Amino acid sequence: MEKIKHAKAYNIYNNLVKDNRIDGYFYNKYIAELLELKQFIGIDIFYFIYIILDKKYLKTALIGNRKKHRIRNEATRYTSKKHIKEFIFGMHGYYCLKCGSKSNITLDHIIPIIRGGCNSTDNLQPLCQSCNSSKGSKIIDYRGEQP
Ligand SMILES: [Zn+2]
Repeated sequence: MEKIKHAKAYNIYNNLVKDNRIDGYFYNKYIAELLELKQFIGIDIFYFIYIILDKKYLKTALIGNRKKHRIRNEATRYTSKKHIKEFIFGMHGYYCLKCGSKSNITLDHIIPIIRGGCNSTDNLQPLCQSCNSSKGSKIIDYRGEQP
């Protein structure tokens, strides 16, 4: 019985070493499996595996954050291009399509980049700073509505 538990722990370790992407789902899965074996494999082996798991989880989270940053930067670079602004404001007017404000007008991604939207003019609408930030990552198309 002990041997089987140790073999299971060894399997977990092997899988963990091969896994390069440990997101929240896999983290919880590994933890649940490890906790089940904890009393059989002993605290040393438990922590030995746990530390590897923890490091990989942090690394995965870090890469995810870097990717989000890069995507956000690309989106900002696109919406700050002069000819893109001129095109969108020329089409919709220089005011917020939600509240009608004419100050602090920004270009909003209708489908946010983080949710799979793209940097193209048909995914952009003028919104003021405050309407843009209250929209957050929701998908709301204000075009065709009169503020
Ligand atoms: Zn507004």
